[in-house]
Amino acid sequence: MKVCKFGGSSLADAKQLAKVIDIVLADPQRRIVVVSAPGKRNKADTKVTDLLIALAQAALDKKETKSQLAAVVARYASIAKDLDLGGEIVAEIERDIKARLATSKKDAGVFMDTLKAAGEDNSAKLAAVAFAKRGVKARYASPRDTGMVLEGESGNAYLAEESYRKLARAFADFEGLVIYPGFFGYRKDGSVATFPRGGSDITGSILAAAVRADVYENFTDVDNVYPVDPRIVPEVKEGIDTMTYREMRELAYAGFGVFNDEAVMPAVRARVPINVRNTNHPGEPGTMIVQSRRVIPGTVTGIAAADGFSNIIIDKYCMNREVGFTSRLLEILQQEGIAYEHIPSGIDSISVIIRSDRFTKTVENRVVARIKRELAPDSVLVVRDYAVLMVVGEGMAFSAGMLAKATAALAQHGINISMVNQGASEFSFMISIKSADRDRAVRALYEAYFGK
Ligand code: ASP
Repeated sequence: MKVCKFGGSSLADAKQLAKVIDIVLADPQRRIVVVSAPGKRNKADTKVTDLLIALAQAALDKKETKSQLAAVVARYASIAKDLDLGGEIVAEIERDIKARLATSKKDAGVFMDTLKAAGEDNSAKLAAVAFAKRGVKARYASPRDTGMVLEGESGNAYLAEESYRKLARAFADFEGLVIYPGFFGYRKDGSVATFPRGGSDITGSILAAAVRADVYENFTDVDNVYPVDPRIVPEVKEGIDTMTYREMRELAYAGFGVFNDEAVMPAVRARVPINVRNTNHPGEPGTMIVQSRRVIPGTVTGIAAADGFSNIIIDKYCMNREVGFTSRLLEILQQEGIAYEHIPSGIDSISVIIRSDRFTKTVENRVVARIKRELAPDSVLVVRDYAVLMVVGEGMAFSAGMLAKATAALAQHGINISMVNQGASEFSFMISIKSADRDRAVRALYEAYFGK
């Protein structure tokens, strides 16, 4: 059995929804279909979720909501009209959103989530009607009735552990085709809660894990995951056909935007293969993400780059002999709520690479003062505006010269390397450079590993 998830661009209008139905009907293994809310029809368009957020905010601010409500309903109405689905479903959607608007605003977060969830919930109901119109019975399944129990704060909820059991039970021996709304669930107290934005991916991956699907198909608007960001290297044509979970994780970490590594965690944990595919080119096999694969020695799978890193560089003579130095350093960061990303070190120096977003100037001053006071280093220096390059590939392990290729390419382009870090597992290494060199560096590395 396959669980497939369709993102907002796949549900944006009637033409897209018709493609979704074709795709689902083309393979009887596709039994659970998770849908997003209608997304953008073009660059200038607004996603239904964003319309709903604006609507909820207007209601919370006691402002006029009529035109905003009409804008949301119009999105569904235009799909219904183009697919000739009749007026009843549109009237039902309007009633549903009005009922949500009439719920308590005492907890603004819950109210906001109640409205946000309307996007996916009505998308699923509309899709079920569209399947029926094509003569196929597809049942809408409610996250409430199937046990999608969430906890945590509004807009940032996560799955309650017991949900897997409940979902598995709800889907044991189910028949036919099920349409399931993504992005939200219910707390134990009955209130609506949503995952973070983009959370329909999470729903899909949770269901794939709960029912132990053979594959989790994630339909989006690209043919493949590419070995490098096509915005930086437009000439990249060939996508990745198969990659491992850990390759995906390393590349997603450094900015591969096609998937969200946290969102697919449930599927990864359950070892369900993930297939990234394109709704607009269903004939393309897409990219498979699996636990293990055959590798060609000496090959790289992908190159990623991300900005926004800072580096705390600490020098101290005989640091290597000082028991507990690193642990005390990390404790200072921990007390500031800062996670570290990499720690390249030498015998008398250590460098802690962290994300810059939470490392404000005030936090920096506090951290540096404490390091000076508590660790008595010879010097502490904070340098901002670093980018991290990740070169990733299961095929790199036990192959000589993989790093040399990168350093030679960067040297040739006059790009200075600040740090290099290779994990013991040898399937990836990190190179840190100044942010200003990022795109040039990515192109140089692409040329070095994938150039003809
Ligand atoms: N519709 C939600 C959003 O725009 C969730 C999703 O599409 O995955 O974030």
